Amino acid sequence: MKKHNFYAGPSILSDYAIDNTIDAIRDFAGTGISLLSISHRSKQFQAVIDEAGELVKELLGVPEGYSVLWLGGGASMQFAMIPMNLLRNRAGYLDTGTWAHNAIKEARLFGEVDVLASSEADGYTYYPHDYEIPEGLDYLHVTTNNTIYGTELHADIDAPCPLVADMSSDIFSRPVDVARYDAIYAGAQKNLAPAGVTLVIVKDEALGRVDRAIPTMLDYRTHVKKGSMFNTPPVLPIFTALQTLRHYKELGGVTALYERASLKAGKLYEAIDNSTIFRGTSRIEDRSLMNVTFVMTPGYEQLEKDFIDFCTERDIVGIKGHRSVGGFRASLYNALPLESVEALIAAMKDFEKQKA
Ligand SMILES: *Cc1c(COP(=O)(O)O)cnc(C)c1O
Repeated sequence: MKKHNFYAGPSILSDYAIDNTIDAIRDFAGTGISLLSISHRSKQFQAVIDEAGELVKELLGVPEGYSVLWLGGGASMQFAMIPMNLLRNRAGYLDTGTWAHNAIKEARLFGEVDVLASSEADGYTYYPHDYEIPEGLDYLHVTTNNTIYGTELHADIDAPCPLVADMSSDIFSRPVDVARYDAIYAGAQKNLAPAGVTLVIVKDEALGRVDRAIPTMLDYRTHVKKGSMFNTPPVLPIFTALQTLRHYKELGGVTALYERASLKAGKLYEAIDNSTIFRGTSRIEDRSLMNVTFVMTPGYEQLEKDFIDFCTERDIVGIKGHRSVGGFRASLYNALPLESVEALIAAMKDFEKQKA
């Protein structure tokens, strides 16, 4: 029996992506050689990375003048690469969670950082919307989905400067107006592929404007020029990413994925709001469609572990909240089927019947 996989990352991938990856590990594109053992410079792998880049552009409607890159180092490396490549004098950041906080820390190594708003004092339970954006920022950095806290920015910000976004946990879950961004990055292990590759979409024009020396591997221009093949790219996760992107296209693209995400999250939040023993933790208008965070209501806190065990018995896994916040977190990434959400809701209702 398959598990209902609510892990936050690495997380569920579609059977389509996993099955095709297994096949390619045995025999890649009819070459008689494993995907794991063939040159990244083979024409078969070149076709993979080319198609993956094209599909990213097609699915997100990336305008002319942007490059799609496949880099190692995780989203966390982008926390440094972004300011290294784009921060001349001053950048604005929104402090909306642990990942945003880490991005701010790295940016401070390279220039002046204005934290325009922070929800830290309230345990990052909401997404700040009320703040001034000063003139003259090189960029405004946002973390569109706060994976740990379950808050999300539901629309692209209208800013007088370019945006830069960490979309690690909600990329391909909604339409994005890419033209507003100088850079978008996403670690693959939430909505795209196994860990090991980071997708970066960067505006070519935004590069080459800083004075500092940038190490070759950390300079986006290196990877733009070489089509992410300056050195050996993470071949396996790029292959899986391509399968996921093909699957997304088949499902109807990001508009359809957004509808599915809204439906799944809507059902789960409704169940939480109608429960007497569970309650949501983030401000309603900022609730994430990807990571649903909730806790036991006062008086029932001691049942937290019982509920996790109750779920495990029903093949529902991965709902324990992040170690820094506790409670529960159900991650509803694109590959998670509606039936898994329904299984979790049924478990919540049955548990409540027993305990309340
Ligand atoms: C998971 C995550 C990260 C960290 O990604 P790594 O690839 O592990 O560095 C950064 N930002 C967000 C929003 C995430 O969800």
